[in-house]
Amino acid sequence: MKTRRRIYEGKAKILYEGPEPGTLVQFFKDDATAFNAQKKEVIDGKGVLNNRISEHIFLLLNRMGIPTHFMKRLNMREQLIREVEIIPLEVVVRNVAAGSLSKRLGIEEGTMLPRSIIEFYYKNDALNDPMVTEEHVTAFGWASPQEIDDIMSLAIRINDFLSGLFLGVGIQLVDFKMECGRLYEGDMVRVVVADEFSPDNCRLWDINTKEKMDKDRFRQDLGGLVEAYTEVARRLGIMNENEPSPAANGPFMVASRPGRTRH
Ligand code: UDP
Repeated sequence: MKTRRRIYEGKAKILYEGPEPGTLVQFFKDDATAFNAQKKEVIDGKGVLNNRISEHIFLLLNRMGIPTHFMKRLNMREQLIREVEIIPLEVVVRNVAAGSLSKRLGIEEGTMLPRSIIEFYYKNDALNDPMVTEEHVTAFGWASPQEIDDIMSLAIRINDFLSGLFLGVGIQLVDFKMECGRLYEGDMVRVVVADEFSPDNCRLWDINTKEKMDKDRFRQDLGGLVEAYTEVARRLGIMNENEPSPAANGPFMVASRPGRTRH
């Protein structure tokens, strides 16, 4: 078997050299980590679900004319992407208070924010991804003022689009994290959306029951993570109703859909 060159291994994904110059293969692992990898577990089927959910969202973003790194899904766990130079920022967009915002500012989880808030974190595991301001971003050259403008307008468009997409299937988009990269095309360079969109980096709550359908199920030991991710995929119309979940780890009740039996 031909071995591929591994370019980078992160906590949940591996990047391999792609078939053509300027392309990479992004492999979705089953590993779940939280609290900067202090908590770790392998959750069978998570990578398959994230690959499918992320493919679905990136295809829609591409169709809307939002530039992304995504080219196509290759198989159950891999997608073909354009090679970009990752901008070392985690861009978090929030609509509802949760997670670190609730903790830091003492705002009760679930409080609707007066407007969407965009935050920047410096992508650096050794430093625990510290929150930074635009001042730090430009002073240290992580992104130019023009790139920050581009990132912010992408973040706002994506937040509006994803909020509506999820609302349409009974899910509230509480917050999400996105990453951007520089795509070099000849003499041109432009900012594109990279990484993934999945319940690993979006907070998704059932609109009626407020049940968590995202990685907080792992962070908070709620169980039923694969069932919750499967339900997100089903509601988005990605997996058909009869398709078995890639793994079943326990019950995930969806009270908003009475009468459904789950196994
Ligand atoms: N997030 C992420 N990767 C990180 C940190 C956060 O994908 O390294 C996502 C997280 O899933 C949530 C949003 O960014 O949807 C905001 O996370 P928050 O700052 O509240 O941090 P957390 O509570 O995860 O520590």
